[in-house]
Parts: sequence; structure tokens; C-alpha cells
Amino acid sequence: MNLSFKLSRSNYRHLVVGVDTKVPLQNGQYTTAINFDNAASTPPFVSVMEEINHFAHMYSSIHRGTGYKSRVSSKLFEEARSTVLKFVNADPFRDTVIFVKNTTEGINKLSYRLWDGNKKSVILSTWMEHHSNDLPWRNKFQVDYVQTDSTGKLSLEDLETRLIKHKGNVKLVTVTGASNVTGYVNPIHKIAELTHRYQAKILVDGAQLVPHNSINMNPKNPLQRIDYLTFSAHKMYAPFGTGVLIGPQETFQKGVSEFVGGGTAETVTHNWVVWEPPPHNEEAGTPNLMGVIALVAAIKTLTSLGMKNIDHYENQLTTYANSKLKSIPGITLYSHTDPGEPRIGVIPFNIKGIAHEQVARILSNQAGIAVRTGCFCTQPYIQRLLSISPKQMDFYRKRRDVPRPGIVRLSFGLYNDFSEIDILTQLLERIVRHPA
Ligand code: PLP
Repeated sequence: MNLSFKLSRSNYRHLVVGVDTKVPLQNGQYTTAINFDNAASTPPFVSVMEEINHFAHMYSSIHRGTGYKSRVSSKLFEEARSTVLKFVNADPFRDTVIFVKNTTEGINKLSYRLWDGNKKSVILSTWMEHHSNDLPWRNKFQVDYVQTDSTGKLSLEDLETRLIKHKGNVKLVTVTGASNVTGYVNPIHKIAELTHRYQAKILVDGAQLVPHNSINMNPKNPLQRIDYLTFSAHKMYAPFGTGVLIGPQETFQKGVSEFVGGGTAETVTHNWVVWEPPPHNEEAGTPNLMGVIALVAAIKTLTSLGMKNIDHYENQLTTYANSKLKSIPGITLYSHTDPGEPRIGVIPFNIKGIAHEQVARILSNQAGIAVRTGCFCTQPYIQRLLSISPKQMDFYRKRRDVPRPGIVRLSFGLYNDFSEIDILTQLLERIVRHPA
């Protein structure tokens, strides 16, 4: 394999805050922190922090105040919707951008809006979903799960089988754009086409895809359109508590939002209410203006870097890390992609005979490396990848004191370096040779 890119450093390192932060090791010395937990949250861009500081002087209440600062704040907040629409090529005439806290809130919001009280309505979720794209559907709909194959990839054949099985009742196919466990990227446009052929709609959980790949909600072929998209700013270098839900305005026009209050109504008497049109009827209470300012700054930076360049660089990191991990005996890798197959920079692994939490502890204590371990809020998928039987799960259910099986996860951001991967793999080799 050609690993000639090994020596190149990340050109993006200076764009991110905190890359040179020193953290203490177990031996009392200090080292530069290495963060391989970007799928959970990314550090902020320098541009985001600068924009936050700059804008703070103008910060004021939005949609309510008449002062100059309020007017500027309101204008920027509303303009942010167009920036987001453009970033994912949503349809400005059809779609609305609702600012939410995060992906989880976006999906909960949509689940409430789509709830029709019809017991026959089915949501097709999948075996690879984060709990946030599974649990919100369960108390409102029948939920069925599209299968994954032996390597954990989504089966499009099984999707079609289930679309046929539930024909006429599938309200929504809800699928992650990229897995937070294996890094597999789902063919969202193919899935959309299949979904639309059976008169259902599609939601893409973009929490992992949007920070790493360009998204096109409106490709040339209308059958391949993405109806709904949601994502979180804290995974795209803007950790100020905001996220986005995008979908057709008409979805949010009928009925009443789950949360109502200030900002959601145009006229109120004690007898009747005239609701604001979307997106305002969905944004109850004072919105998170700072979060939205941060998100816009992050989108500008990501766009200027080019999502294709980011994807290319992160793929190089992933290929390099994978090839090094493969050469260490005793390491089991849980994701397998062919060269050229799309994936994001997420690598799940275990070391034979050493608990996942223990591996993470050693990496942190001895080299200042942050990873994530456990099930990453994606338990059914992990149960499948680790072949944990329902009987074993029943045992864990009764015994909260017993440590759970899990996986160690590396997840890269655009600022990670090949040299950081070298530090990691050297330590992993030592752990394998001399388990504590
Ligand atoms: N979906 C996926 C695929 C995720 O990886 C995550 C978080 O890791 C979420 C949804 C939930 O995101 P948030 O915690 O920002 O709501």
C-alpha cells in the first residue's frame, strides 16, 4: 500500500483551538493532548472563537427588541438560515431551517410532528442507528429495523424487503448518514430513491456525515432528494449548543409544536391562538443566538477549506491508522472498507484480553490520548458487531454491577496528525506486548 502521505502534516492544525494543550500523565510529566474523540465533540475553530468574541459586542435579544443591536442580532439570526440552506443545498422555496439544541432534539421534534396517532404507521429505522435516531420513534410508531450484513453495513435489499412488507404504511425511513461506530457512509441518495419509490419520506441523521462530507439535499434526480436532515454544530467545530433540523415547511405548518411559548404565537387571547409560521412556531423561547453565530462561522471555515479536501485528508489519516492497527497482533478491527469505499474517520477496535475501558485508561494515563469506549449510544449495533446474544443481554439487564462489553473508538478531525497516530500505535504495540 502506498503510504507516501505519511510524512505530511495536517494543514488545518492552526485552525483549531487547543491543539497544543498540555495534560498531565500518570508519571507526573506533561504532554500535548491528543484528541481522537472527534465523533463525540470537536474543539472549536479559531474562527468560531474570534467571531463569538467579535459578535459579543453586538449581542442582544432577537425578534423582541427594537434597539439597533437587537435589529442587527435578529438580522444575523435570520440570515443564518440561508447560510445553512446553502451549505447542504436545501430548497429555499420548500424547506425551512429550524434551530435546535442538537441532533437529538431535531429528531425528537420531527417525531412529534410526524406523529399521526395511526397505530399502523411504521418508521423504518436501521440496526446501525444511534439511540437518538431510534428511541424518539418508539413511543409513537411501530418501528422496524433494516438489517446490517456480517460486516455491519446496511443492507439495501433488506430495506426494500421491509418497504414492501409495510407497503403503504411506512411514514419515514430514518437512517444515519455515517455510522458513529464503524464510520461506514450510507448511500443516502440510493436509499432516498428506494424510499420514494414506495411513497415514504427519508430523514438523514447527519450528526456524523455533515462535519466530514458535502451534503446535497437536492440532487438533480428528484427521487434522490433528502426530505429531512438534522445535525449538531458541536461536532463541526462550533460547540455552543446549537443544531439544525431542515425539512419541508408544510411538515411544520399543520398542528402545534411540542414546545410552545414565547416567539411561537402571533396573536394570543385566552380563547384562541394564531401560531407563527415555521420556523418560528418551532423555536419556543429565546433562541441560542451565540450558538447560531458560531455555527455560521464554522460553516464559512469548512466551506472555504472545501469539504472534499477535508474528506480526502481524513481518509488518508484513516487509511494510515487502519494499516498500522492491522499490523499489531491481538487487535480486532470492527470496520472493513475496500479502497475507495466512502467512510469517515472512525475506527472501532479491541485488544484481545484487555477490557476496552482499560485500554482507554492506559492511553490517557501514559500518552494523553483521548478516545471513547463502550457502546457510543448505539447498543443494538454493538451487540451485533460483538455477537452478544439476547440471552447475554438479559443477564446484563439483571446485573448492573457487571462491566459491559464494548469497543474502543478512534475518531479523527481535520486537525489530527499522522505523528499522533504513530504515538498511539507505538503505545498499543507496548500494551499488546506487556499487558498490565
Ligand atoms: N446521531 C449520531 C450518528 C451520533 O453520532 C450522535 C452523537 O454522537 C447523535 C445522533 C446525537 O447527537 P447529539 O448528541 O449532538 O444530539
